[in-house]
Amino acid sequence: MRKTNLISAKNNSYYFDGVFSVGVYIKNQQAILIDSGISKDVAKELDKTLSHAGIHVAAIINTHCHGDHCGGNNFFQQKYPHLKIFCTEAERPFVEDPLMGPIGLCNGAAAYEEIQKCKPITPQQGSKVTDTITPYQDQTITICGEPFEIITLPGHTRGMIGVKTPDNVLYCSDAIFGEETFRKHRILYYTFIGQALGSLKKLKSLLPSTDAVIIYHGGTSPTVATLIDDHEKRILDTKNMVLSMVQEAPCSLEEITSKVMRIHSIPDSLVAYALTKTPLQAYIAELEHEKLIKIRVTEGTCRAHIS
Ligand SMILES: [Zn+2]
Repeated sequence: MRKTNLISAKNNSYYFDGVFSVGVYIKNQQAILIDSGISKDVAKELDKTLSHAGIHVAAIINTHCHGDHCGGNNFFQQKYPHLKIFCTEAERPFVEDPLMGPIGLCNGAAAYEEIQKCKPITPQQGSKVTDTITPYQDQTITICGEPFEIITLPGHTRGMIGVKTPDNVLYCSDAIFGEETFRKHRILYYTFIGQALGSLKKLKSLLPSTDAVIIYHGGTSPTVATLIDDHEKRILDTKNMVLSMVQEAPCSLEEITSKVMRIHSIPDSLVAYALTKTPLQAYIAELEHEKLIKIRVTEGTCRAHIS
């Protein structure tokens, strides 16, 4: 049976070659999705492909809360009233309430419209999580009688997971990005730096016992191990860059963001600014955690200092 837009990873494990690589596990004419796409339109397209083959969607496992991963939830929940939606406790409020992500990106207060309307950040409609994956630790969950391994991969977000299907195919979500995304985004979106580095190590340790790895932004890569090393190097380079800026002179998050955006020619848009500033906040917090810098407010400005 040919399934348009569905690329086989191994046996019953596929990924949907839509805007991004949604995971699709098919057994007994039922599909279990790993994430749900960026929008209602993408979800509809995926559903059409599956429906033509007589397959219905039984469950979604959301790896984390970003709009490009759970933007299709609402469509599937409307179409399949018995649909199960799984995610971790830390991600759940953000999946259910579309305002939470934008609020988080806007200092915890009312969000700017452009951020609210940005589909990769914000699911445009909320959805109801039916099953919370808790506690946040590696575990096996059973869906439609099939065992799925949940693998914690924090760092991109606080409660992100990867999912290994019974075919030994690992969907690693945004723990790493495909080559194109990696090259395009100089400041990779990680919000907990120490944890992100730990997740890269974990991912690498899983490679020998895994048959295929699917990256949400990029699909498959012939050189996953090298790609993981490249991510680690990029994180350490960014961390050193932030530290050397602070070593030159005390600086605020705004100043560091401005310098980084100019150095890397990041376009002057509110979304690009937010997606640069937020990870830089994480680097500053990490340097503070490692006691390499101190945070002080002087004359109404919060700055990072060396001592
Ligand atoms: Zn993400």
